[in-house]
Amino acid sequence: MSFSNEALTDFAIPANVEAYRTALDEVAGKLGADYPLTIGSRQVETGAWIESHNPGRTSQLVGRSTKGGPAEIDLALTAAWDTFREWADRSMDERVGLARRLADVMRHRRFELAAWTTYEAGKNYAEADADVAEAIDFCEYYAAQAPALAGEHETYPRPGESNTSMLVPLGVGAVISPWNFPLAILTGMAIGPAIVGNTLVLKPSPDTPIVAQQFMKCAREAGFPPGVFNLVTGADADIGDHLVDHPRTRFINFTGSLSTGIRINERAAAVHPGQLWIKKVGLEMGGKDALIVDETADLDYAARAAVASGYGFGGQKCSAMSRLIAVDSIHDALVEQFVALTSELEIGPATQNPDFSALINKRAQEKTLGYIDIGKDSAKLLTGGSPGPDGGHYVTPTVFADVAPDSQLAQEEIFGPVVSVIRATDFDDALAIANDTMFGLTGGLISNDRTRLDRAKQEFEVGNLYLNRKITGAFVGLQPFGGLRLSGTTVKAGGPYYLRQYLAEKTVAERRLT
Ligand code: NAD
Repeated sequence: MSFSNEALTDFAIPANVEAYRTALDEVAGKLGADYPLTIGSRQVETGAWIESHNPGRTSQLVGRSTKGGPAEIDLALTAAWDTFREWADRSMDERVGLARRLADVMRHRRFELAAWTTYEAGKNYAEADADVAEAIDFCEYYAAQAPALAGEHETYPRPGESNTSMLVPLGVGAVISPWNFPLAILTGMAIGPAIVGNTLVLKPSPDTPIVAQQFMKCAREAGFPPGVFNLVTGADADIGDHLVDHPRTRFINFTGSLSTGIRINERAAAVHPGQLWIKKVGLEMGGKDALIVDETADLDYAARAAVASGYGFGGQKCSAMSRLIAVDSIHDALVEQFVALTSELEIGPATQNPDFSALINKRAQEKTLGYIDIGKDSAKLLTGGSPGPDGGHYVTPTVFADVAPDSQLAQEEIFGPVVSVIRATDFDDALAIANDTMFGLTGGLISNDRTRLDRAKQEFEVGNLYLNRKITGAFVGLQPFGGLRLSGTTVKAGGPYYLRQYLAEKTVAERRLT
């Protein structure tokens, strides 16, 4: 079936900017509301709340979402299992139709959903718009992929016997999603398993519960039956382990940090009383993504690609370039251009559409400033390195040079606007430095040397390699996304093998009597 990506909005066109501002104004009128959990057909409140604030203007309450606890996780798993058989028995065509309707609802609400993301996650217009476009793409792409997985398939023939194989859904899964693509990743991790017949408990990041509530609103409007998507928002300490440990959780679809992923993987390995399966765990985790620039590159182009890769959404993308590796002969010239462009970046409240806004929360700001302190002791600060304007969790765009490849700055994921520039003697050295990390998510090379580009294809150990372009911005269907090494379990969101992971193969052999 055919698929094409949702076009991104061009904000160079004034009418689009105006339309976006209108959506921001409309959503502003809805800020501060209270939201319940959704468990089956019930809207549940516990009397406790998690508050979500605009990270760039922390005095602004985006909304309050009900704080669920272990009891609500239990109820949500029950509701999801109660719905599972009926949902799994529906035809693939029917589920595909609902996924397409969900895409339509999101299309219809495109700027409204993006505006919620601007308020809650601090995304500027283009980043928020791309988040919604990607969510739509996941619905449409998996809708295009799913029909091929339906029905029975004959195995090799044998006289007197009919042998067939079919793919059946696993059951009830937990979707544990991060805040940095609050709509796209949640939607992709939910609609993929759901379209092939699984039901789900959604546990979004406590930093972006209100965008998750918008997802539920869209799913209801699209006509998904109650119990397919069950939303439990809450604090990690209250519900994270409980959901992972629960004997009725069949599979876990996780995107987030390495440390949380490892914890989930370890805990999910235990088989608890009453549990009928080994839990299937899919993990998409962090990165320490590198862009290599060699001496054959156009330096102006390379510097621009590096700025886009390093500071889009303030470096808060798993694919963000946090290491810029320059070969010695062009190092100083590249760094000069890179720093000049970086110093021009504007930060401020996301509603004003700056280059990037505040970091998601205080913890992220403190963590980033902590790494900046480490950098000030161990490397050379070229620009940035301070908290930004008051009123939000800002950090200015920061560049360190003379960073040692094995230093903390060059090895650990910071997840903020901090780029470490590393000097390499030549291309071979640069490639070795790029690969010298436990992560393997994205990476890139800017070069005009065909042999080196080909070598990078073979030797650069990342799940998503970008040649002669920025290293962020994977499109569903075009660049299936996911990492090697400790960046993930090669789930590859938006790729042709994704849906198969939420299905088990069942074989039926029938002897023909007479
Ligand atoms: P995080 O690990 O803090 O949280 C991710 C999710 O796990 C959230 O829903 C959180 O509430 C939940 N969680 C936390 N503790 C838990 C526990 N004990 N049990 C169960 N769930 C728990 O990550 P984050 O800060 O939300 O997201 C940023 C991270 O995600 C970065 O490391 C980034 O690289 C990574 N990321 C990876 C990809 C990818 O595709 N590889 C995409 C986006 C983000």
